[in-house]
Amino acid sequence: MDTARLSHFVSGLWDDEIVPQLMDYIRIPNKSPMFDPKWVEHGYMDAAVKLMETWARTKLPSLPGATLEVVRLEGRTPLIYIDVPGQGDDTVMLYGHLDKQPEMTGWAEGLGPWTPVLKGDKLYGRGGADDGYAIFGSLAALLALREQGIPHARCVVLIEACEESGSYDLPYYVDHLAARIGSPSLVVCLDSGCGNYDQLWLTTSLRGMTGGELSVQVLEEGVHSGDASGVVPSSFRILRELLTRLEDPQTGTVKPKELYVEIPAQRIEQAKQASHVLGKAIYEKFPFVEGMHPVTEDLTELVLNRTWRPQLAVTGADGLPPLESAGNVLRPKTSVKLSLRLPPTLNGSQAGQFVKQLLEKDPPYGARVSFKLEKDGGGWHAPQLSPWLEQTVAQASQNHFGAPAAYMGEGGSIPFMGMLGEKFPQAQFLITGVLGPHSNAHGPNEFLHIPTGKKVTMVVAEVVAGHYAQGGKA
Ligand SMILES: [Zn+2]
Repeated sequence: MDTARLSHFVSGLWDDEIVPQLMDYIRIPNKSPMFDPKWVEHGYMDAAVKLMETWARTKLPSLPGATLEVVRLEGRTPLIYIDVPGQGDDTVMLYGHLDKQPEMTGWAEGLGPWTPVLKGDKLYGRGGADDGYAIFGSLAALLALREQGIPHARCVVLIEACEESGSYDLPYYVDHLAARIGSPSLVVCLDSGCGNYDQLWLTTSLRGMTGGELSVQVLEEGVHSGDASGVVPSSFRILRELLTRLEDPQTGTVKPKELYVEIPAQRIEQAKQASHVLGKAIYEKFPFVEGMHPVTEDLTELVLNRTWRPQLAVTGADGLPPLESAGNVLRPKTSVKLSLRLPPTLNGSQAGQFVKQLLEKDPPYGARVSFKLEKDGGGWHAPQLSPWLEQTVAQASQNHFGAPAAYMGEGGSIPFMGMLGEKFPQAQFLITGVLGPHSNAHGPNEFLHIPTGKKVTMVVAEVVAGHYAQGGKA
């Protein structure tokens, strides 16, 4: 492969077509169904599908024999399926998603979720980096190979529209398309993070997730707090007590040993290396307020906390009026939404059941306590890397970043990877992405670091070529 030619081709396609496409894509508020229950009526999801479909169809003539179908199962979010013929009888799957997280508040002046803004190397706006670029990057990689006449295995591209809601529609599509997909020996996923923008980062694990709504009800209706406090136990206090069953409020450590796994020695070693490469950037990437510091100064522990240990976030609340309308009332009920990240190899649904029991048993004062489970996604742990993939990745990172590849678990979840890992235990995985420091997917000021998008695309081209060159087998 001519590395300079690859770089030139990919970079040109990004500048001429992909960045403008992503700007149009950012304008579409196609929130994932969990955040837009009326997504069908609103039509934004269809608009996003149409944008990607239209662009991809202009590329099909350059990929002889390639087909594209927008698959729509009754009552489910759509899925873009592209089949690009290749050499041999092996299959590579490339995965991404087109649904988005909701707006979030706190966008800087001049920026906004649905307003694409190009500033230097960065394209700001919701969904460019998470994960709109995936279909463009995947096809650009294949086009770059075609442009140099470099052979590759058959490739199938799957772009789903339900990822940010837990990918609950995706298993139906995978079943529906099973015969057409075949049995991939390499899975490429461009929906992950990177520790910095200076080298290629391979994701070695993803956390699982469980969570739901915890509600504590003490009264049929609110009453005068001067009358009732000291007699009626507060739903807020009971909720705090219940949360203490799960989490140590002093340290943030999740208490039950049932929610932990033994961390593999190789991953501890890689966490040490990653903390060495990244240094304080591990926590300085977060927009701490002045004077604030992380839960510990031990950098390796921070890496392991965010990749291999359970951690709790309270992501929403109900039963609490906004401050300006808060009267002196002992409120009848307090509810919170819990998001509990889980170790990669822990069984997500068992963990969810365990948490439900833990929170609901022996309710203090006989209060009405319920935990409505919403998510039970398992995590993912990479299989041992094949020597060819390790070498190809090392070379590709040097070629395009000028630095060695790095390996780290990610704290987030990509539910589909867990499903694929179970379905195709023999497959190799290239899970990487552009979600690096400050890129802030899910939060305000999300941006796509364009040079990293380009380089990741080049790496995908090299890996797909390397996969075929070594015989196409995992
Ligand atoms: Zn994503």
